[in-house]
Amino acid sequence: MNAPKDNPLAPWQWPEPHWRSIVDRVRAGRALRPASWPGGARCAAALSFDSDHETNELREAGESIGRLSQGQYGNRQGVPRILEILKRHGVPASFFVPAVTALLYPDEQRRVAAEGHEIGIHGWIHERNSELPLAAERDLMLRSRDVLEKVSGQRPVGMRTPSWDFSPNTLALTREMGLEYDSSLMADLDCYELMLNGENTGVVELPVEWIRDDAVYFNMNRFAALRPYTPPEGVFDIFKREFDAAWKEGGLFQLTMHPHVSGYRSRIWILDELIQYMKGKGDVWFGTHAQVVRHATAHAA
Ligand SMILES: [Zn+2]
Repeated sequence: MNAPKDNPLAPWQWPEPHWRSIVDRVRAGRALRPASWPGGARCAAALSFDSDHETNELREAGESIGRLSQGQYGNRQGVPRILEILKRHGVPASFFVPAVTALLYPDEQRRVAAEGHEIGIHGWIHERNSELPLAAERDLMLRSRDVLEKVSGQRPVGMRTPSWDFSPNTLALTREMGLEYDSSLMADLDCYELMLNGENTGVVELPVEWIRDDAVYFNMNRFAALRPYTPPEGVFDIFKREFDAAWKEGGLFQLTMHPHVSGYRSRIWILDELIQYMKGKGDVWFGTHAQVVRHATAHAA
């Protein structure tokens, strides 16, 4: 029983089946929490980098040359600095890459793949996928996968939606494409099965959170009041505390950073020192998102 569209009811007037049907569209099912991680490690660290580059400007139909140059910084300085740190520590990570970024910088994607990292889908041009009609969303998801595979030589098995949100069709399309996982939703700290209208889909969610995203603390908008409000030391402290608790509980620590946000001299140390800290603590296994999802699925307690 849906509220009729021509005579919409206010949410407080909705009949129970209506609000239940909204909540049940996409739901967290069974938690996939392994007793331990590969090598018997008590904690897993899943580092990810969203290589948005110029697409943050392009998806708004923006043509600001200044903003586009900040995007290019992500390629020229951000990604190389990140890759150097990952290599020095011998740690794998996942890079979620819009197809337009991959087409602008194919060499970057080839290097990321060659250095042992995972490349995942992150939309076509960082479009607001949750607002797309079904046919357009399906077309862009398929084309994005094909571009990433062609450019990097690696067939993506996972996706992070550009808006960290789903349209009513996203989950069905993810299943239809045979992707193993999504990493855009926030219902848990552990991996979990995604349910569509009350039924298991076989698609695993590796949850993110804005709390563990650098952009939330560092973004600025020149023409609005938005300015970075947290010093780098404060961001490091939040990430470290998220990790410390994951380690204590024997769980998963997932992190998202952006090359064009954190790839600066005053910020990139956060990644370096965080990995150093995690390694110093010991008993931590570093995996790509795909590796974490596969282990969690195979060894769910
Ligand atoms: Zn993004």
